[in-house]
Amino acid sequence: MKDTEEKKQILKQYFGYDDFREGQEVLIDSILSGKDTFGIMPTGAGKSLCFQIPALVLDGITIVISPLISLMKDQVGSLNQAGIHAAYLNSSLSTNQYFKALQFAKEGRYPIIYVAPERLLTDSFLDFACHAHIAMVAVDEAHCVSQWGQDFRPSYLKITEFIERLPHRPVVSAFTASATKEVREDVIDILMLKNPTVMSTGFDRPGLYFEVQSPKNKYQALMDYLGKHTGESGIIYCLTRKQVEEVCKNLIKEGIPATRYHAGLSDEERKNNQDDFIYDRAPVMVATNAFGMGIDKSNVRYVVHYNMPKNMESYYQEAGRAGRDGEPAECILYYGGQDVVMNQFFIENNQDNKELDDITRQLVRERDHERLRKMTFYCFTNECLRDYMLRYFGEYGGNYCGNCSNCMTQFEEVDVTDIAAALTGCVRESGQRYGINVLIDTVHGANTAKIRQYRMEQNSYYGSLSKAPVYKLRQVMNFLLVEGYIRLTNDEYMLVKLTEKARKVLEGEAVLVMKMAKEQEKKRKEKKQEKMKKSLTNAGGLKDEETQLFEKLRVLRTEIAREERVPPYIVFSDKSLIHMCILKPKSKSDMLKVSGVGEFKYEKYGVRFLDKISEVLGTG
Ligand code: ADP
Ligand code: ZN
Repeated sequence: MKDTEEKKQILKQYFGYDDFREGQEVLIDSILSGKDTFGIMPTGAGKSLCFQIPALVLDGITIVISPLISLMKDQVGSLNQAGIHAAYLNSSLSTNQYFKALQFAKEGRYPIIYVAPERLLTDSFLDFACHAHIAMVAVDEAHCVSQWGQDFRPSYLKITEFIERLPHRPVVSAFTASATKEVREDVIDILMLKNPTVMSTGFDRPGLYFEVQSPKNKYQALMDYLGKHTGESGIIYCLTRKQVEEVCKNLIKEGIPATRYHAGLSDEERKNNQDDFIYDRAPVMVATNAFGMGIDKSNVRYVVHYNMPKNMESYYQEAGRAGRDGEPAECILYYGGQDVVMNQFFIENNQDNKELDDITRQLVRERDHERLRKMTFYCFTNECLRDYMLRYFGEYGGNYCGNCSNCMTQFEEVDVTDIAAALTGCVRESGQRYGINVLIDTVHGANTAKIRQYRMEQNSYYGSLSKAPVYKLRQVMNFLLVEGYIRLTNDEYMLVKLTEKARKVLEGEAVLVMKMAKEQEKKRKEKKQEKMKKSLTNAGGLKDEETQLFEKLRVLRTEIAREERVPPYIVFSDKSLIHMCILKPKSKSDMLKVSGVGEFKYEKYGVRFLDKISEVLGTG
């Protein structure tokens, strides 16, 4: 079949890659054979190529439906840079621009047209689509059709009607990074995919390092972290607008090139700040979860969560914006007890659920609390973090990944039966009326106004664990929570309640052993991380000379990006630059071996990069 050779050639010629990644070929082949196709791949895995390449092979036009203007703009920009004619039709165009683009589309100038779902059923667009030869409809971010998903968009429900109104039913393909079963089923049902090829690739992102910390002072921890990552691009997610404002203001005061994004800013400022981030004018973005969907910035080296997000889905999606170029990147979460309280408050006051009937609303609320609990456990677990995440999404990970903070910490088994008995005993004796802090202060024997006010100094467990450090008591408390011996009430007070399971502990019939970080290992862990960070800051383990070259190429890339008015990573990704530093190409054929350098991009920029390389290395 001519298609099979063609797809490989397109991959190389336009995108500059030698090989397909996991899953891509199956999806492309399925589309080319005329079958409906559903691809589920994590963010950064390379979904776009799966419909872009068939779009270039198929006779006719591919319509890509995409929920966000920024997402379309970015993808169309990338395609144009690669020498592929593509256009988008959405509300960011003036009426004139829109009709001009539509005219060009009618003339068959674009093999790929991105369109917002709201446009599909308009007269002008339908008229065009019914008279053109539409070979494929590709639905990006397909989970938006599902009410189970996090980003339900009613306009996505128009897609099916649109397809039905076309004179010939094209191939329909759908893509999402959303993994849960309900969402997958919805996509297939609602989009009415016909006997589709369904391909789900692993959700693991081995290049991402995961870490959870409970810093006493989050801001200080953040400053220390950023100090070790100067010059790199990263995102800091906060839970509230107020916190975004505060953190961003402080960072700027310290001279860090930061900008901010949240729903309280004007459209114009949001757009400007987002551009500053994308174009690396302000490489550090402080934002609420309103930021990020449709951001394809490939060189994000870290995502720090200043607060714990509301569930694992959000966390994995937000953290997953790091390292999309496949280079190592870090996902750090700063946990604080307050984060749980805030999230519980959000769940209880969720305005989105207003129109639901009482029973459904209650169900949704319970589901949200359950998701929050699982997220909280992620912050407490001593097991491999990656493993925890993959299991959450229904996959089996190994028990050890070697690239998360838990795998890099040495643990020992500690018998905590006595501590657990005292903690649960204290809960029972005080009538299950207090939260974690009061209980810990009680067994630790703190002499505070609150303790006296609650008369906890009269509790028979008062001071019974005065010798154990507070952090250890807290760990055991968390352990009891995770293991289901106690639970917290779903309100702002978060009172500790005993469960059925606690009885055995209270009656001295259970032996509790938990994994705890070895004291003396802490230092070594910090050293090891220090080392890792070094290799990251010099851009993926380059030698000194190569790092200098990398910096020079980066400057050249910024120059070109400015001339072309595109983000730097659209010219070449960090990965391509790093590859150049390693290969040190001297000729066109050398250059074409660099990952991400295709014919078209070579013609545009190849010589400038070759010249720069020979200039820096003195080989010219
Ligand atoms: P997704 O839409 O799945 O989040 P993208 O389509 O944006 O991911 O791809 C992420 C990055 O991976 C892009 O920079 C893309 O160019 C790159 N990429 C895609 N396919 C390949 C491949 N076969 N080889 C190398 N890089 C690839
Ligand atoms: Zn691990």
